[in-house]
Amino acid sequence: MENYHVYNPLDSMAESRGGDAALSILRQVFGYPFFRGDQEAVIAHLVAGGDALVLMPTGGGKSLCFQIPALLRPGLAVVVSPLIALMRDQVSALRQLGIAAAALHSNMAPGEAGAVMRQVDDAQLNLLYVSPERLLAAHTLEWLARKPLALLAIDEAHCVSQWGHDFRSEYLGLGVLREHFPGVPRVALTATADPPTRLEIVRRLNLDDARLFIGGFDRPNIRYRITIKQHPHEQLLAFMQSEHVGNAGIVYRLSRKSVEETAAWLVKRGIAALPYHAGMEGAVRQRNQDRFLAEEGIVMVATIAFGMGIDKPDVRFVAHLDLPKSVESYYQETGRAGRDGLPADAFMTYGMEDVVMLRRFIENSQAEEEFRRVEHHKLEALLGLCESVECRRGILLRHLGETMEEPCGNCDTCLEPVPTWDGTEEARQALSCIYRTGQRFGVNYLVDVLRGEKSERVLSNQHHTLQLFGLGRDRSVASWRSVFRQLVAWGLAKVDVTGYGGLILAESCRPVLRGERMVRFRLDPDEAQKPRRERRERTGKERSLRDSEGSKGDGSLMSALKATRTHLAREQQVPPFIIFQDATLQGMLDSRPVTLADMERIPGVGSRKLERYGEIFLGVLRSGKPYPS
Ligand code: ADP
Ligand code: ZN
Repeated sequence: MENYHVYNPLDSMAESRGGDAALSILRQVFGYPFFRGDQEAVIAHLVAGGDALVLMPTGGGKSLCFQIPALLRPGLAVVVSPLIALMRDQVSALRQLGIAAAALHSNMAPGEAGAVMRQVDDAQLNLLYVSPERLLAAHTLEWLARKPLALLAIDEAHCVSQWGHDFRSEYLGLGVLREHFPGVPRVALTATADPPTRLEIVRRLNLDDARLFIGGFDRPNIRYRITIKQHPHEQLLAFMQSEHVGNAGIVYRLSRKSVEETAAWLVKRGIAALPYHAGMEGAVRQRNQDRFLAEEGIVMVATIAFGMGIDKPDVRFVAHLDLPKSVESYYQETGRAGRDGLPADAFMTYGMEDVVMLRRFIENSQAEEEFRRVEHHKLEALLGLCESVECRRGILLRHLGETMEEPCGNCDTCLEPVPTWDGTEEARQALSCIYRTGQRFGVNYLVDVLRGEKSERVLSNQHHTLQLFGLGRDRSVASWRSVFRQLVAWGLAKVDVTGYGGLILAESCRPVLRGERMVRFRLDPDEAQKPRRERRERTGKERSLRDSEGSKGDGSLMSALKATRTHLAREQQVPPFIIFQDATLQGMLDSRPVTLADMERIPGVGSRKLERYGEIFLGVLRSGKPYPS
């Protein structure tokens, strides 16, 4: 058994010598020089005894928000977590830092659970991770109510929301924590941004007095790229070979069958790919997930059943070979790339066949009409993202309620201009058409009016008498539909989800209507196919060229560092990233520490890891050979 330090808040205060106790823990224990985003404010609020709801993107650093207060406040911090794999990794990571942490869930041998409970009784733990059903068992609640608690953290708090795809019924009971543990600060954390989910979390968890911390949702290290689907397997392979040799990644597919096919296809080409979907035998699925976490460079081909609780920080790419369900799911799924903050890619191929399939899916579903309509709108918005000529990140963030001042410079549309056409006049016509028909109608109707179709509905509404009736008869239906989709995608028009789903004008369309703003539309994919293909090849080459520049020889040293990490991880039966993350290894490569003091300055090297691994990694850097040599 290793030797953990049970943090005593008074020690921490004394160690910081009147300075900032939280900052000194961040530096000494975690080895990071600065707080990110809202971390510092959340920590101060919790340490002072307040409740909080923390919304931060994946990789934003939510864990520190409760882990540091857990060390600063007297008593035990209880962390509710929905998945055993998640608890296991967090506990391992904390123990690596020398922090006394353990997990308690319903899937443990009685002896094992008993040992953890004794540690709690003896005040030998700073953090206890617990599954919701275990926590809510009457005997656990009574037992913990007799302990001094530092705080209660509810991780992945969106699991309480019935709207979300990660709903867990056991989370619903967590509202009772307020009455069982009065006076103990409670913090709920999630990466899910949308306001309805947020409200539901507050309501169901009884967090009315919680302070809300909303971080920015941008993930600047993720490069977004969306291309037309031609030969998806070959396109994926080319992308992986040019930019992600040996990297871990996730490939999402819509159906179980295509998951199996794609995994098999990749394996034939020498890629370490594994399948994952809900139809697989439980044990096999679990083994594949464990291998993905424990080994380097595995590519997981999966349905969306795979995702929540994948805390692996070094997933270097997420590829969608089929359209995701919505912009929100695209953001969530791609968000699993690059949690460590290093460059990562989101790659998608989409084609008309996906659109047709998804529409059928929605139409054939048993759901209420209202629900289906919402699903259709979500799809339209997603198509808007796919077809846009604007910065992809800007569109994504707008969906999450954020605005971006400048194009990001790190997505395909920013990096390679898209063929476009001047649609200033068409945009005005389309917007006027929405306005003149009373902001009540959907795209099909609006296109009918613009193209001068004397349909029954048009006639009965007298819209054939409008000045703009038939003004756009020279443009195809498909092209007009694309115009409307792009107007929605850019926020110039909106879908009225409160009414019948017609289009309405957005405030921002005024300059377009007044002719003060130019509008350029993305050219329809099939018209532009050829030139796009050429450009894609060129960019692939440029990027791999750029990536290899200035890193000659680093490749083999990085391999030696990674091999060392893997060796240490195997010895202790933890995933390699628990030893050191890629970002920390990259830090070693960049700054080439010679002494332990140099090593300590690298982000991710706290005092405990310095003690255990410092010499070993200095040796690898000196010799260029993996440990043990
Ligand atoms: P989340 O739970 O929000 O997805 P994590 O808590 O897992 O994010 O943190 C994501 C990554 O960022 C982890 O690798 C973590 O070690 C790192 N990290 C968190 N806070 C900081 C910080 N202040 N400085 C540097 N790295 C940090
Ligand atoms: Zn961009």
